[in-house]
Amino acid sequence: MSIADNILEIRKRMARAARKAGRDPEEIRLMAVSKTVEAERIREAYEAGIRLFGENRVQEFERKSPSLRDLSAAQWHLIGHLQSNKAKKAAELFSAVDSVDSLQLARKLDAIGNRLPVFIEVNVGGEEAKSGVAVGSPELEELVRGRWANLEVRGLMTIPPYTEDPEEARPYFRQLRELGERLGVKELSMGMSHDFEVAIEEGATCVRVGTAIFGERGS
Ligand SMILES: *Cc1c(COP(=O)(O)O)cnc(C)c1O
Repeated sequence: MSIADNILEIRKRMARAARKAGRDPEEIRLMAVSKTVEAERIREAYEAGIRLFGENRVQEFERKSPSLRDLSAAQWHLIGHLQSNKAKKAAELFSAVDSVDSLQLARKLDAIGNRLPVFIEVNVGGEEAKSGVAVGSPELEELVRGRWANLEVRGLMTIPPYTEDPEEARPYFRQLRELGERLGVKELSMGMSHDFEVAIEEGATCVRVGTAIFGERGS
């Protein structure tokens, strides 16, 4: 299967999941997660209609971006943990940071002085090894409701604990949706290759798909 075939298939599955949940498929965006993928194959995804891309490392994208400049309608979002000392570089390279996971980082990004759309990453499973703000923490409230000079908080993002059966991720997706409703944000970035349909049924407005588009990543 080519990258274009994979994208077509995913779009069909996304539409099916949306209709099943009584949602309009048009309101859900597909982000192609292009970490570890070289420029040539990223270009194939662009040619197949993808405009939203997710990268998880500042340095990797800094290296690849010169060969992707001509993809003028592409939007590049950072979806991986960002160290404060790379905040400025990230704000230059990316059009949004979907993985803001602390007040400290938010303050740093806000102080750079350019308008920057962000998502707040929530650690719904309370996992030690994952980044993201804890569900019940006052920090989360402050991040979402804070009066930022430059940050535009668009929504919440999460990676639930990995489970073989995607159904088991459902309570975590539901939790993020309820959190979003309570905090008054509209966008929910949730769902990856193995569980995006469940995420859509639970209200995802953006799914982040890597493997199902580009194939297995070499480690
Ligand atoms: C790698 C990654 C994805 C995509 O994962 P796949 O299982 O390959 O679809 C989504 N979100 C984040 C934050 C990632 O790091």
